[in-house]
Amino acid sequence: MRIAVLGAGPAGLAAAVATARAGHAVEVFEAGDQVGGMTASPTIAGQRVDLGSHRLHPVASPPVERLLREALGDDLQGRRRRGRIHLEGRWLDFPLRPVDMVTHLPPSFVAGALWDVAVGPWRSRASRRATDRTVGEGGPPDDDALSTLRRRLGPTVADRFYRPYLTKLYGVDPSRLHAEVADRRVAARRATDVVARMLRPRPEVDFRYPRTGFGQLAEGLADLARGAGATIHLASAVTAVTEHVDRVTVTAGATTTDVDVVVSSLPAPLLVRMAGAGDDVVGAASALVHRGLHLVHLDLDAPRLSQADALYFPGTDTPVARVSEPRNFRENPDDPPDHSVVCAEIPYDPRGPAPDTAALARTVTETLQRAGLAVPQVRGVTVRSLPRVYPVYTAGSRRALDRLEDWVAGRRRILTFGRQGLHTPDNTHHVLAMGLDVADVVGADGIDHRAWARRRAAYRDFVVED
Ligand SMILES: Cc1cc2nc3c(=O)[nH]c(=O)nc-3n(C[C@H](O)[C@H](O)[C@H](O)COP(=O)(O)OP(=O)(O)OC[C@H]3O[C@@H](n4cnc5c(N)ncnc54)[C@H](O)[C@@H]3O)c2cc1C
Repeated sequence: MRIAVLGAGPAGLAAAVATARAGHAVEVFEAGDQVGGMTASPTIAGQRVDLGSHRLHPVASPPVERLLREALGDDLQGRRRRGRIHLEGRWLDFPLRPVDMVTHLPPSFVAGALWDVAVGPWRSRASRRATDRTVGEGGPPDDDALSTLRRRLGPTVADRFYRPYLTKLYGVDPSRLHAEVADRRVAARRATDVVARMLRPRPEVDFRYPRTGFGQLAEGLADLARGAGATIHLASAVTAVTEHVDRVTVTAGATTTDVDVVVSSLPAPLLVRMAGAGDDVVGAASALVHRGLHLVHLDLDAPRLSQADALYFPGTDTPVARVSEPRNFRENPDDPPDHSVVCAEIPYDPRGPAPDTAALARTVTETLQRAGLAVPQVRGVTVRSLPRVYPVYTAGSRRALDRLEDWVAGRRRILTFGRQGLHTPDNTHHVLAMGLDVADVVGADGIDHRAWARRRAAYRDFVVED
């Protein structure tokens, strides 16, 4: 079969590897001039950097593990986290350590959090009874993200850590976000889970990372895909997907390509528009809103900003959410010895004005200085903006996504997957699993949407680890 894969992020590349190996004739269309999507590693001031802090989860499913090993071999390094969180004006180690927390956090925070742990079982029971009553009366349960986090972790951590942090990421108070945001972003289901995690002996490997930058993974996958016979077209933005009875035509620039099946990791609203869905479906798609992220790369005139791999800023006193230092994620002798490029992540509304590079750089340096860090001379600033990073979940967006997925499920020759295609906040190992699954659901009759729906159901349990 002839298959067009749209998008060469990790999802599209995994699908290309798996479908090419299954014997299909595969062509990948990618708008950018390099592979990797959000996981790409551009070179700035002579250093490989990432588009925001990226690390690979320490464990993945066996098929994904095999793919990672094939793509990266010995360059996949096992690493220990060295993060720091700037919470209420104090620095904490991340992963959290009990003694560090007790000695550095304000006493009111420590006392509140301990109390919340102690009364956790009663809180859960009381809220279950309240929810049963509300559902019984026909009203909605307490299903916003903030109430869910308060119920699970207690008001101290929910209100003093997650509330400001999620407000910054999503641009709205988490009481206005669907509970799915809490389900997807916070693995702990009880306050005692957080405590148990802190008390457990630390594993040797907290995360994995490719030697020359996170983007080395996508580059390795692209090599595997090409090795299996796939063709990857870079700088080839797809503008139309036209379904016929016996084929689909993909238009990218002035080129048209006929294939039997299209599997798309592009944003779902873009796909349905390009594929000529009706006004009701395209209208529903407009409810699928994202927050964007400005990535402010500062080239610093010193070997390092700090020893940390990532610095987290949950408070709303700064728009900066996180600052990562790529050289601290890896052992790479090729990193320049005399300067270091760091990346600050600043969430933004993609409908807003264009970024002001100098103002963003000032905001980052002031944030770091206010937090007590000595910021070396800035040699250069580069800003990249990703318009679709955090899918904003509301009750309306869930309905809209269901509408889109229903429409796609009615197409014999089109499938949507990946982080943008399914409007999820999923991690790389999740989308790699999706990409591999694609090969199992395409056949001579086109897409087996029933089999795909079964895989999709499992993806709903994916939880993102920051
Ligand atoms: C700041 C940040 C931090 C992250 N941290 C982590 C982490 O620590 N660990 C982790 O596992 N994951 C992390 N992620 C998530 C990870 O980046 C995603 O899971 C992954 O990139 C999703 O891959 P994808 O292929 O589904 O989508 P994408 O990477 O978005 O790829 C989609 C591709 O489609 C292309 N495209 C779009 N429109 C068109 C068009 N019209 N024609 C052709 N091509 C098109 C895009 O250029 C892109 O290459 C992070 C993401 C961000 C933004």
